[in-house]
Amino acid sequence: MYKEPYHFSLQRFIEPEQFEALKDYVSDLPTPVLLIDVEKIRQKYRELNQSFPMAQIYYAVKANPQDSVVNMLESEGSNFDIASRYELDQMLRLGISPDRLSYGNTIKKPSDIKYFYDHGVRMFVTDSENDLKNISLLAPGSRILFRILTEGTGADWPLSRKFGSHSDVIYYLILQAQQLGLQPYGISFHVGSQQRDIGQWDDAIARCKYLFDAAWEEGIELKMINLGGGFPASYVDPTYGVAEYAAEILRFIEEDFGDNMPQLILEPGRSLVADCGIIVSEIINITRKSKNNLYLWVYLDVGKFGGMIETIDESIKFPIYFDREGMADEIILAGPTCDSMDILYENYKYHMPDTAMPGDKVYIFTTGAYTQSYSSVNFNGFPPLRAEILPKHIRL
Ligand SMILES: *Cc1c(COP(=O)(O)O)cnc(C)c1O
Repeated sequence: MYKEPYHFSLQRFIEPEQFEALKDYVSDLPTPVLLIDVEKIRQKYRELNQSFPMAQIYYAVKANPQDSVVNMLESEGSNFDIASRYELDQMLRLGISPDRLSYGNTIKKPSDIKYFYDHGVRMFVTDSENDLKNISLLAPGSRILFRILTEGTGADWPLSRKFGSHSDVIYYLILQAQQLGLQPYGISFHVGSQQRDIGQWDDAIARCKYLFDAAWEEGIELKMINLGGGFPASYVDPTYGVAEYAAEILRFIEEDFGDNMPQLILEPGRSLVADCGIIVSEIINITRKSKNNLYLWVYLDVGKFGGMIETIDESIKFPIYFDREGMADEIILAGPTCDSMDILYENYKYHMPDTAMPGDKVYIFTTGAYTQSYSSVNFNGFPPLRAEILPKHIRL
């Protein structure tokens, strides 16, 4: 079989000097470990803020709930989108004022609504009549954002089918909210995470415009659009940058709303934190399962249950670097647990230099989002993915 030299564009993800410093730093760290560059998250936050100067940012805490990440974003002026009373407890513990919080989860128990209201939260997102009625009883007078359904087309990690309702239902909920003494405040949507088709915002914004107009005819003035998350991070497949996303999205809004610009909210998760984390892992074993198999099986000490759940259906393709030179083997990558689902990539073939050996460290880039917060507690006895903040002299 003809082989090519192993190639990986390391400098797309880290400066070569920084990589040397990183290697030094991790040489005696136990693996797997997630290392987070908080200063880089700060830069990403500022970049997003500059690209959307008129929008308020509500960081989606679930992407990376580390206290130090939340604290830093608070100091930069961020607000927070939270989804459970446990995230609320964390925000309150960190001293974040409830007027900087939005309860963005449409799936909530009455007792959750009461808990949020009792702790001062006054912004709620809904997509159903039962939930709206519960909010009117337990969080009277609150601001309501109505979540519309989007298709999730074009997203590497679509999540929208579960959330939101069609405009016909939402229209009715807006009128009902007014009657129930709530403040029908705006429309929210999420076009799907790692959304690579900017045009998806165009469709959703057009639906917002339709609902703004329909509500206005009934004497209700909606004021806000929540543009959701979905902004990109740098995985194997390149995307446009946040500035390009912003320019296009703002143009869509201007086309529909002209001088009557609504207030805007963003709820970034992935795009703020993914590029700012790296998982350092170790090769446990490399095997060929029969003499004539084309592919090597490579087992890492991190897998689906240890933080890489977004490899389900090979949806998110993390950039994976083997720090050796040699000819490239095509590999199947799997995690360390005794569950046959714990295979990372089988259809999409990653490359590994043929000089790689068990015991080598492996560098998995763009792992700052949806990794540690997703890792299992005790499956096969493996502890959840450990995370550390990188010392300031090493930058991703
Ligand atoms: C998860 C989530 C986000 C963040 O999405 P990203 O694609 O990671 O930016 C934003 N809003 C809501 C309601 C979410 O559930």
